[in-house]
Amino acid sequence: MSERPTHAALIQFPVVDDQLIVGGMTVAQIATQVGRTPFYAYDREAMSRRLRELREALPDGISIHYAIKANPMPAVVDHMAGLVDGLDVASLGELRIALDSGTPAAEISFAGPGKGELELQGAVAAGITLNLESPGELERALRIGEVLGIAPRVAVRVNPDFELKSSGMKMGGGPKPFGIDAEAVPTVLERIRNSGAHFRGLHIFSGSQNLRPDSLIEAQDATFELAYRLADAAPTALEMLNIGGGFGIPYFPGEQRLDLGPVSANLEERLAECRDRLGDTEVVIELGRYLVAEAGIYVCQVVDKKTSRGVTYLVTNGGLHHHLAASGNFGQIIRKNYPVVTARRVHAGPRELVSVVGPLCTPLDILADKMELGAAEVGDLVVVMQSGAYGYTASPHLFLGHPAPLQVLV
Ligand SMILES: *Cc1c(COP(=O)(O)O)cnc(C)c1O
Repeated sequence: MSERPTHAALIQFPVVDDQLIVGGMTVAQIATQVGRTPFYAYDREAMSRRLRELREALPDGISIHYAIKANPMPAVVDHMAGLVDGLDVASLGELRIALDSGTPAAEISFAGPGKGELELQGAVAAGITLNLESPGELERALRIGEVLGIAPRVAVRVNPDFELKSSGMKMGGGPKPFGIDAEAVPTVLERIRNSGAHFRGLHIFSGSQNLRPDSLIEAQDATFELAYRLADAAPTALEMLNIGGGFGIPYFPGEQRLDLGPVSANLEERLAECRDRLGDTEVVIELGRYLVAEAGIYVCQVVDKKTSRGVTYLVTNGGLHHHLAASGNFGQIIRKNYPVVTARRVHAGPRELVSVVGPLCTPLDILADKMELGAAEVGDLVVVMQSGAYGYTASPHLFLGHPAPLQVLV
């Protein structure tokens, strides 16, 4: 038996008669229901299960927010709204989707550098929490609050003086466009004290896509320490402390699923300590990818099969214009294959070494580079797994003018 790690271990969906089952249906059934390919399908039960397991694993008393930029499809946000304690948005468009879901304004926060005048007005009018990214943004929010006669609800997003190690994406430490440098935060807190704003608390987000419990624990410890230090300068007790998230999911062979055990045990201690130090501050973790990525698939259809100097290509109607991340062009340094399967031959049947490409006239348009897949012919459906986050909305649909993919929640 070969011990080489494969993608098979990453498949989260049931396989019946060697066919992938998503939302209780075969992928072919979903394709017939949708009416055309390519499409994204998101499994609502998979999301519910992820939330149940996460709540089970995490200590009581921690709030879970969904960062909707991971997947802002309104039907997905509506579903998630019923499972989480709040939503985090990053634009006015996302704010509308969050409010449409029925989530109360008090449970919505808005982070992101460069919030424009209309975005700040919309946020203040709605009564959501603004996670302030700069002293200038605070001044603009205060002026808007005066004009509207509404006290802005503000939290300070801190650019921490540490970073989340071994992260897919570092969002804190050193110079960053995100948040206010930790050392400059006391002055901003003083300004809030002397303004009419409603102070909510602190937001400390240090990174993303992390699979290492030790790195997450180290960052969480540093986050609480930083929060205790800054709380001394705060105008009022912290109603809320958002400690970020950063929980990752496995994409590539050999990646170990994040072990929540040690992270949770550490959080339990930190929560008890936090109650001693800060009182009954609501501690929030905000997660995007971890909640939805594994619940989604991207499905495209083989249009042509050809060989070129010994390499077999499955040419599909989907590609990087729909799924930039799977093509390796969204933050990957060395391109690796996402888990890809032939929908009707997941584990068994004849296998073939193929490259799956899209219809774009660029060598970047690759969905799988020399992968062993169940043999596929023209008309077969090819599935890219781990596609529920940063897929549809993180891809350049207009590039080359093909139709956009569809999206369904099943
Ligand atoms: C993008 C983002 C998230 C979500 O990150 P994931 O890796 O999807 O969990 C959370 N918080 C903030 C501030 C973000 O910008």
